[in-house]
Amino acid sequence: IKFADLHLDKNILSALSSAGYESPTPIQAQSVPLALEGRDIMASAQTGSGKTAAFLLPTLQRLTRRSEKPGKGPRALVLTPTRELAAQVEKNALTYAKNMKWFRTVSIVGGASFGYQTRALSKPVDLIVATPGRLMDLMQSGKVDFSRLEVLILDEADRMLDMGFIDDIETIVEATPADRQTLLFSATWDGAVGKLARKLTTNPEVVEI
Ligand code: AMP
Repeated sequence: IKFADLHLDKNILSALSSAGYESPTPIQAQSVPLALEGRDIMASAQTGSGKTAAFLLPTLQRLTRRSEKPGKGPRALVLTPTRELAAQVEKNALTYAKNMKWFRTVSIVGGASFGYQTRALSKPVDLIVATPGRLMDLMQSGKVDFSRLEVLILDEADRMLDMGFIDDIETIVEATPADRQTLLFSATWDGAVGKLARKLTTNPEVVEI
C-alpha cells in the first residue's frame, strides 16, 4: 500500500514525498481510511509507530474543505501531555501542510508567552496543538472559541491522565461541539483512560497494531 492509495489531497501527497515517506506505516494504513470516512477512532499506538501522521493526515485532508461554520476558532485541536510532544506534533503538521499556504497552526503550551498566544488566537486558526493546563487558562479568560471545532485529538491519552489532566480534559471537551470527530491515541485503554475514551467517542473503531 502506498500513500497515493489513501485518497489524500495532492498537496499532502507531495509534502509526504518531499519528506521522504514512501508507504504508510501499519497504524497509518489502518487509521487514515477510517478517519477520512469520519469515524471516531481509539488507536493503540506507541511512539515511533507513525501515530502522529495517522491523526494529522486525515485531519489536514478535512481542513482542505471549507468550514461550514462561521467564525475564526480552531477547526482541529490536538491535546498532548507535554510541550515537547506539542512542538513535535506542530512541526509534523507544518511539514505535511507545507503546500497548503493558507494553513495556520498555533501551539498553546505552558512556559510560552500568554500575550503571544492570545494574539495568535485572535486571528483565524486551523489547528491548535495544546497542553491541557495552558489551554484551560486561555479558555477561562474567554480567549478560545470552539464553536467551529470539527476534530478533537488526544495524543498519548494515558500519559495525560497519569499527569492528572482528567478534569482539564473533561472541561475542554465539554466546550467542543458534540458532532465533532474524536481521534484517541494511547498506549493502553486499561482503567480510567478506557472509561474516558468511551465517554468521548461515538461508535469508535478500535485500531490495534
Ligand atoms: P511518531 O510515531 O508519530 O512519533 O513518528 C515516528 C517517526 O517516523 C517520525 O520521525 C516521523 O516523521 C516518521 N514517520 C512517520 N510516518 C512515516 C512514514 N510513513 N514513512 C517514513 N517515516 C515516517
